[in-house]
Amino acid sequence: MSDDPIDRSGLRPHYWETVPLTRMTQREWEALCDGCGKCCLNKLEDEDTGEVALTRVACRLLDDATCRCSQYPIRRQFVPECIQITPKSIEKHAYWLPETCAYKLLWEGEPLYHWHPLLTGTAESVHDAGVSVRGLTVSEHEIDDDEWEDHIIEEPL
Ligand code: SF4
Ligand code: SF4
Repeated sequence: MSDDPIDRSGLRPHYWETVPLTRMTQREWEALCDGCGKCCLNKLEDEDTGEVALTRVACRLLDDATCRCSQYPIRRQFVPECIQITPKSIEKHAYWLPETCAYKLLWEGEPLYHWHPLLTGTAESVHDAGVSVRGLTVSEHEIDDDEWEDHIIEEPL
């Protein structure tokens, strides 16, 4: 799994099917992330309806080629508002997370998709399946906030 920035080696076999989110180790929790990058796209939320629209305007730290945060360990120094998904916070944030997000799926009692790196053994499978944001984004540096509406997209599924 040399192409995978997340170390998924040595984890309990199919732990995500048996271990509750709150009982996973930190490594098991981190390994749930499929690396799609969709949670790092800016969203627009309708104040009246609560409806969330996804845009292709990405956080300034998102690397469009790898779909990873370019400064993950120190990201809060640059993006203090970056939200950390934890077993405790997932309930609060599930409504805006992508439909394919592994954290949301497991929290809702749904299985992982067949292309998830934990099942395929390669991080490329999320890109091959066309569900990541690779090559889709434009940086928030380049688009004014009041123009985000022009960049609304459907979630790649
Ligand atoms: S949407 Fe979920 S699975 Fe995809 S990168 Fe974000 S946290 Fe990981
Ligand atoms: S700081 Fe990194 S993890 Fe947070 S939204 Fe931006 S790219 Fe994603």
